[in-house]
Amino acid sequence: MSGDCDSDRRAGMQVSSDPLPDGRPRSAAVIVAHPDDETLWAGGYILSHDDCHWFIAALCRAGDPDRAPKFRRALERLGARGAIADLDDGPEQRPLDGALVRETVLSLLPTRVFDLILTHGPGGEYTRHLRHEETSGAVLSLWRSGELRAGSLWRFAYEDGRGSYLPRVVEVADLRFPLSPTLWLQKQRVITEIYGFAPDSWEVRTTPKEEGFQATSARPSGARAGGH
Ligand SMILES: [Zn+2]
Repeated sequence: MSGDCDSDRRAGMQVSSDPLPDGRPRSAAVIVAHPDDETLWAGGYILSHDDCHWFIAALCRAGDPDRAPKFRRALERLGARGAIADLDDGPEQRPLDGALVRETVLSLLPTRVFDLILTHGPGGEYTRHLRHEETSGAVLSLWRSGELRAGSLWRFAYEDGRGSYLPRVVEVADLRFPLSPTLWLQKQRVITEIYGFAPDSWEVRTTPKEEGFQATSARPSGARAGGH
């Protein structure tokens, strides 16, 4: 499908605000905790910008003989390159060392400079997966320190009412990206046909029909501009 942003708008995908340079990044990284997060939270956006050079980094599950090959196939379907690491992802969600997460992010990326970086929201997208939050924090820290450079950093903007409903775009999202039925189906097929989730699985029921992103400030909140 066309990746031209003007044709996206003609197709009825309203972009409320678009912090991308000219709305058309040349290179974009998606940095997520798990294979499937890229598709769930940003798959429609990725698929509809196929003129971009997408690189998807997943921090966990390289050693998972089921999920790792599926990630490779998902990359093909999404028209992206990518890499996967093998950080601990046990069910007990033991906190990871922040330096290790940051090093892992950098080790996966082919370059330190992108036009756009997408990653998890600071509180994750649902209640609750610590790896999402740790990934978000690591990427933010690398971006603010200048170790990772990008014109914009957007973070996924979803919430699930503390587990009371399936994740949906937060009210205050900077960018709401509603998916056309065709685009949503394309994304859902990555979840069902490639990742193999069952129709009644949480993932398939969740697969958002609208994607949401929050622009992130290069300065910590409360920090002042200038030399005051
Ligand atoms: Zn995940």
